[in-house]
Amino acid sequence: MLSQVPAGPAPLQEPDVRGRFGDFGGRFVPETLVQALQELAEAYAKLRDDASFWQELAALMSSYSGRPTPLYRAQRLQQKVDGPELWLKREDLNHTGSHKINNCLGQALLARRLGKTTILAETGAGQHGVATATVCALLDMKCRVYMGAEDVRRQALNVSRMRLLGAEVVPVESGSRTLKDATNEALRAWVGQVDEAHYILGSVVGPHPYPWMVRDFQSVIGHEIAEQLWPRRVIACVGGGSNAAGAFARFVPHPEVKLVGVEAGGHGFATGQHCASLGRGKPGVLHGSLTYLLQDDFGQVSDTHSISAGLDYPGVGPEHSSWATSGRVEYHSVSDEEALDAFELLCRCEGIVPALESSHALAWYAREGPKHKQDGPWVLCLSGRGDKDVQEVLRLRGLA
Ligand SMILES: *Cc1c(COP(=O)(O)O)cnc(C)c1O
Repeated sequence: MLSQVPAGPAPLQEPDVRGRFGDFGGRFVPETLVQALQELAEAYAKLRDDASFWQELAALMSSYSGRPTPLYRAQRLQQKVDGPELWLKREDLNHTGSHKINNCLGQALLARRLGKTTILAETGAGQHGVATATVCALLDMKCRVYMGAEDVRRQALNVSRMRLLGAEVVPVESGSRTLKDATNEALRAWVGQVDEAHYILGSVVGPHPYPWMVRDFQSVIGHEIAEQLWPRRVIACVGGGSNAAGAFARFVPHPEVKLVGVEAGGHGFATGQHCASLGRGKPGVLHGSLTYLLQDDFGQVSDTHSISAGLDYPGVGPEHSSWATSGRVEYHSVSDEEALDAFELLCRCEGIVPALESSHALAWYAREGPKHKQDGPWVLCLSGRGDKDVQEVLRLRGLA
């Protein structure tokens, strides 16, 4: 069994000098941000080769966040579904309840080495905001989190958690008052204080070097999996795509390992209410990156819907766009209803309450597993725990 957190990024593909993964990614930002992003990319490129940085990160991941996370064989779920051998990568057991802290610890240590004193972040459901506020308390940094006013109302518990941890939460009133507006506002705020502040983006999205950096910090997931068990297939849910990129990247150079990303199918493609950026989107620019994007014929970003706030984003990381077009990773979607059923199934079979985001990956296993019974072992990234979703599930099931 694995006793130590692997130090350093796995030997992974690097973006080209323009920050592109194949045809996607890059840096489409106002001129005022170009220099800050260039400095960040250069600083990160240096740190990437600095063993002491990765040792410092590995030590925190192990003593503070609880890594390595276990790989658990879900035998009762497998029997119930009548599918292939299934193992759950327990990212839900991380401190603060999801994989988000992997990225926050990495970026906060980076910010400290750059001499920054203030951290800015955006958040949708509040999971990334809580993880950011947590590492800021740990490292004694000032923390300001931008959050759509609508999300501030819907996610009151996480707002209180962030404030308890010492963060300032700024409600954003523009646009649809949700995640994409909070991201715009955080980028704008960063322009005003690039000297003292670092912006911690929460997924493998945004301008170069974020998709690269965040993927590297999350790749500890796949690195650990590879040492725990060599899978025939890895499955993960895809919002912006950070837990999936972290789980997949280690296996991308090994074509015998199949990789499946599961997007939020919401109420179904016919209704237009979903978040399947790769399933139904077209290339476009969002938050500084060229990637698959849900948009109308004029290029206006579409309104999206998912039962899980963490998947409710109209874009996707550029590296996923590149994996999708090359065919290295398959992307599928499941509906809100399928995710809800899978949520309840895991609770009952295994005594684990999954996040609604992770329930999308579980739902794909439940639907497709029976067609591949002899194909195991499969590993599924259980990206987070579902305590935050209990009230919403009870409401949707008419039990609250
Ligand atoms: C935020 C979140 C996601 C979606 O983000 P990715 O960047 O796609 O990983 C998935 N699961 C959980 C538990 C989350 O908190």
